[in-house]
Amino acid sequence: MPETDHLKTDCTKCASLCCLALAFDEGEDFAFDKNPGEPCRNLAGHSCTIHDRLAQEGFRGCVAYDCLGAGNRVVQEVFAGQSWQTDPRLVRPMMEAFSGMREVHKRIDLLRALEMLPIEPRDEQTRRDFLARLEQHRWNGRELNEFEAGLALEIDIFFHGFRKYLPDAAFARD
Ligand code: SF4
Repeated sequence: MPETDHLKTDCTKCASLCCLALAFDEGEDFAFDKNPGEPCRNLAGHSCTIHDRLAQEGFRGCVAYDCLGAGNRVVQEVFAGQSWQTDPRLVRPMMEAFSGMREVHKRIDLLRALEMLPIEPRDEQTRRDFLARLEQHRWNGRELNEFEAGLALEIDIFFHGFRKYLPDAAFARD
């Protein structure tokens, strides 16, 4: 486990990026519609005004959501603690970086989970190398924007190779 666990979400070090960037539809999990890039109407500064009663107010989706530490990492590592609320020019770059970092952190989560499998030494080394690249790299906005079309594809191809370690049923939905 790295010294800083990048998958640990810390909303106190974020700038409410999920409450800005993510869209949701009115229904069982959300009480109204919200578009991407539209600050949630329940947001005051970086705090949710209904945080203590989200489920009762119809926002079970917010209770269930976890960015896996992507929001706090983006704000601290990429934007040095700045916020779109004090500089509206940051809305778009912060949303884009948050999107890219979520993809980085999803893959960190999966790469860590593969540790449980009895895999060949060469695959284990590749797994560790990818993890180190994702966890130890200090990302910038451009790199995050390019992640899905570059390194993420390499990692996804690596994941594809893990079929050989799993029972056929694990991929029955593919
Ligand atoms: S209801 Fe609260 S936690 Fe959910 S998006 Fe709005 S401000 Fe964020």
